[in-house]
Formats: sequence, C-alpha cells, structure tokens
Amino acid sequence: MGVPGVIFDRDGTLIDFVRDEESGAVFTAFHPSHLRILPGAFEGLRLLLRSGFTLAIATNQPGVAKGHFSREAIGRTHDALLQRFKDEGVEFAAVEACLHHPVENPDGDRSLQVACDCRKPLPGMLDRIVSSLGFERARTWMVGDALSDVLAGEAAGLHSALVRPDRRCEACPLSDTLTTAVTGSILELCRRIAQTQTVS
Ligand SMILES: [Mg+2]
Ligand SMILES: [Zn+2]
Repeated sequence: MGVPGVIFDRDGTLIDFVRDEESGAVFTAFHPSHLRILPGAFEGLRLLLRSGFTLAIATNQPGVAKGHFSREAIGRTHDALLQRFKDEGVEFAAVEACLHHPVENPDGDRSLQVACDCRKPLPGMLDRIVSSLGFERARTWMVGDALSDVLAGEAAGLHSALVRPDRRCEACPLSDTLTTAVTGSILELCRRIAQTQTVS
C-alpha cells in the first residue's frame, strides 16, 4: 500500500508558456517574472490536497543542455513557483526536473547532453517520486498537456490524464485509452481525480 499522489507536468499544465509579443517567440519560463499560473490550478490542487492526495511536479527542462539559460535560472524559477503555490495553500512534496537533452550542442552544458532515463516519455522521474514519497501506483496520476506525459505515466504504471485547453493535441486520439478523458480545464480534471479518492 501507499499514499495516493498526483504528479503534474509544469509547462502548459500548471503554468503558461511565455509569449514574447515583440518577437513572437514562445518559450518556457526561466525567470520568476515569467510565471503565469494557469486558471483553476490553485483551486484544483487545493481540492486534491483536501481529498488526500500528495502532490509533486515532474518537468523536462532541456534549456540548460541547449544553452538557453543557466541551471541557477531554473532553481530560482522553481523556488518562486513553489512559493506562489504555497501562498495559495498548495504545497508540493517533490519537484523533479530532467535537465538532459540527447542532442549534442556546443552552446549548451555538454555534461547534460546525454540519453538519460528521466526525460519524459521515460518514467525515471516518476519512478523516483513514487518511491521517495511512497505513492501507491494504482491510486496515482500523471497529469500533463503532452503525449510524452501520458506515455511516461503509462510506463510508470500510473493513471494518466491530459489537460488541453484547445483540443488540438497530438494525443487526443489516445483519449479513449485514458482513465480520465481529455479535458480543457485543470480544475475540472482535478475534480474528476478527487472523485476517485472518495473516503467511504
Ligand atoms: Mg507540458
Ligand atoms: Zn534526464
């Protein structure tokens, strides 16, 4: 046995991508000022905590390996992210970030340019969280916005669920195989997951 858990992807699931209106560039947050918590996330995660779930984050962050930003930038951004959630009554028990990327790139940190076992869709981060927090896989969920999140969840023997606001996703054909259907609202998704854990 163990405790029920929900492991969240970061970008596109808990926080929005960053859009630079001047250049049109879209990138992932690497500074506290970039953080835009997606609507419904605070309320949904508070509901999960009240329903007895322990929460964690598992995020691919290949930007250091690619030379886009520093390892310290990720640390500062995650500290700020955790504080923002804590201020709203939501605590995460673990944060795992895969900093690796398998493609060689002279601009990036070469020590991170490796084929690892933690970059989603591989289940390495999820397995570490499950063992360190004592999650029961049959009552634990991986929630993300991409096919790689679903595949990582399935590889780790967890339930998987997708949150996609626009339904224009590559993983939508998979939705029939998901325990929880694709939904555009993280709050709605959290409500459905909470219902799986009703105390009798
Ligand atoms: Mg994502
Ligand atoms: Zn990795």
